[in-house]
Amino acid sequence: MHSTENKRGGADRGRASGNANGGGYAYPFAGALFLTTAAAWDQLPSEGAPEVAFAGRSNAGKSSAINALARRTRLAYVSKTPGRTQHINFFRLRSGGLLADLPGYGYAAVAGTTRRRWQEFLARYLSTRIPLVGLVLVMDIRHPLTTLDRQMLDWFLPSGRPMRLLLAKADKIAAGERASALARVRERLSLDYAMYGNQLSAQLFSATRQLGIAEAEAAIMTWLDPALDKERPRHQGE
Ligand code: GDP
Repeated sequence: MHSTENKRGGADRGRASGNANGGGYAYPFAGALFLTTAAAWDQLPSEGAPEVAFAGRSNAGKSSAINALARRTRLAYVSKTPGRTQHINFFRLRSGGLLADLPGYGYAAVAGTTRRRWQEFLARYLSTRIPLVGLVLVMDIRHPLTTLDRQMLDWFLPSGRPMRLLLAKADKIAAGERASALARVRERLSLDYAMYGNQLSAQLFSATRQLGIAEAEAAIMTWLDPALDKERPRHQGE
């Protein structure tokens, strides 16, 4: 079921600016609801609704970013509950799209076979999942582009889909240094991922200071909106 009426004309539409196409929700991630959790391929939601995934190193600020976008305080923390740390958690947006919260990586808590199995699942998800329209990679602005971040870029970019890098916790560095931190990341990307230049974008973000939220929403909705439109049932005369 897709709430297309709401998407096209809901009462909460109409923030003056900030949306990619002006036709979507004012706060596209608000009202997201937990849908399901998947630790293996056959547990993924059936293909249909487009999904946007969020990834990031543990402690990068990913849960805070999702919660800030969703205007909720604890939405994304489901991914941190014991037993859920190697699962992709799915949330349904009001538009019908899905948000896939990938577990934070970087802690060597799990070893051996479990870790390998998980990595294989994640690599397969990022490189071949059909409904996946884009990936948001959350990085601590003070430690961008770690080896594991690059692993995500390497798995995802060959699929040809867009990726948005959020330089999170931007409030942790002085306001005057933020633009140069962003410029450095962009420069690094243009050198190391030159052939994927048109898939990659980066921005400043702070959940604490509510910085970059509208910008991130607009970027993500440019991926989701066309996919939702394609999926939307056509009525006579359209
Ligand atoms: P995750 O492990 O990537 O999901 O990271 P969390 O969202 O749980 O954040 C990790 C820590 O960084 C927590 O203590 C947060 O309160 C803090 N944090 C997250 N976002 C921000 C931010 O924008 N600014 C600041 N100053 N701290 C943040």
